[in-house]
Amino acid sequence: MQTTRRHFLKSCGLLTAGLVTAAVVDPQSPQKPNILYIMSDDHAAHAIGAYGGRLKQLNPTPTLDKLANEGMLLENCFCTNSICSPSRATILTGQYSHVNGVKSLGGKIQRDRQSLPLTLKDAGYQTAAIGKWHLGIQPLAFDYYKVLDGQGKYHNPQFGERKQGQAEKRIADDGYCSDLITDASLKWLKERDKSKPFFLMHHFKAPHGPWDHADRYNDLYADIDIPEPESLYNRDGFGSIATRGHNDELVFAVGSSVGQRNRHRNHLRHAKLKPDGKSSKEITHLAYQDYLKKYLRCVKGVDDNIKRLLEYLDGEGILGDTVIVYTSDQGMMLGEHDYIDKRWMYEESLQMPFIVRYPKSIKAGTRSDAIVNNTDFAPTLLDFGGVNTPKQMQGKSFRKILETGKEPSDWRQATYYRYWLHMAHHHNPAHFGMRTKEYKLIFFYGLSEKGSETQTPPGWELYDMKKDPLEMMNVYGNVEYQDVVKKLKSHLIELRQEVGDNDKDNPAILKVIEEHWEGGEEIAKEISNKSVKYWSCFDKSAEKSKKKKKVK
Ligand code: CA
Repeated sequence: MQTTRRHFLKSCGLLTAGLVTAAVVDPQSPQKPNILYIMSDDHAAHAIGAYGGRLKQLNPTPTLDKLANEGMLLENCFCTNSICSPSRATILTGQYSHVNGVKSLGGKIQRDRQSLPLTLKDAGYQTAAIGKWHLGIQPLAFDYYKVLDGQGKYHNPQFGERKQGQAEKRIADDGYCSDLITDASLKWLKERDKSKPFFLMHHFKAPHGPWDHADRYNDLYADIDIPEPESLYNRDGFGSIATRGHNDELVFAVGSSVGQRNRHRNHLRHAKLKPDGKSSKEITHLAYQDYLKKYLRCVKGVDDNIKRLLEYLDGEGILGDTVIVYTSDQGMMLGEHDYIDKRWMYEESLQMPFIVRYPKSIKAGTRSDAIVNNTDFAPTLLDFGGVNTPKQMQGKSFRKILETGKEPSDWRQATYYRYWLHMAHHHNPAHFGMRTKEYKLIFFYGLSEKGSETQTPPGWELYDMKKDPLEMMNVYGNVEYQDVVKKLKSHLIELRQEVGDNDKDNPAILKVIEEHWEGGEEIAKEISNKSVKYWSCFDKSAEKSKKKKKVK
């Protein structure tokens, strides 16, 4: 216990003989739990053994599986905007992207709005942020930070480091970034003020692209054929006019692909792999194997370094006094539906892994299917720190769910999602929607906030998550789902009102929503046709500009 608090209790006459025994706390065992928040970048839940799925047989994450066995695993944890900076801003503020203002990459959260560390600091925590940050303003609200510049490099990266009361220093470290980030966290933990509980945000860059792994993993999975998802080749019932175009006329342009389907962006091109007369299926297989092996080697680097952190806590005797969270800023498409990258509301991208270990109040080996999202993270961590959720946060603490396995009667039954960066980078149309335990409804409005030049056809998708968890069949138009569609749409309107996302400042988007909420199919076909012309020209101009760059 801190001297100041003891002094306060004494002055109030509360530090009686009986209380003295209880109040004298071993510095190694602070009253409030330590909080170790470990987050990786783009680590999909289905690339964690404990989540099951086709990659489990490869044993990709033994340490995380053990962590899950010793704590609780959340099966329905979702992000509200599946891309790096927005998810991080949401975690920091407890707010949706349209409220905290970080809808896309390059967003900023000023120091006085970095609510999570500020509030925990006020509650007596010593705070640090180490690793990837990727928000325009440094983590100034923390007592200490050592963070990568922007995306950061895998090998020999540069960091900005700042100790309390000092100016930021530039640090160039030699080594592999997951190792260096862990080294930095261990150093900070060893040197911390042990009279206070700690809150450490330990953020790996891995397994974000370009998937450079440490040399020690060169042979990992080398002779293994990584299992492929069926949807890598079979896309027949999946998608809509919004993601495929009328009669599939836009499949060449929408969503970066594993093989050569997307002409602008695909893994084959990223990895500079040579097709050498192979068939389309063989090329996709080649690119998928390359993609997954690189990705999983980075995942192994994360898992092995988490082991180091846990061993340190155990050695210090504080493993049981520490709330340990593992998550990722969002998921990742690992070849499902022939997609790479995230951004989509499809399950592999929408889902966030969430494992938490705290044996004092969370039963080992438990799971919950309660729907939580990343606006809830800050309220939950604050709750463990003994702090009520600040008014400006939109999320709710799910601590009780972790501790009892039961959902409170008023707990949310649906989560809202929105992706704004229309057709940028990986060519994903803008969309919003909702996920319940049973269904997922997505509306692709297909419009940038800046204008209509890049417009793609609006369209709806509905997936029956109980019957079709891999989202192989869009059942939006099926007669037997029409009652479900009607109910979900009205729920979606309520959810948009509840979170305050209304597009009132964007009449063009409102018009699309109005025209396509019911019907609008003929208009969508016309837009699809125009869109083919636009993206075909884009294709040629992209090639030209690439050649020009090469000449330069
Ligand atoms: Ca990310």
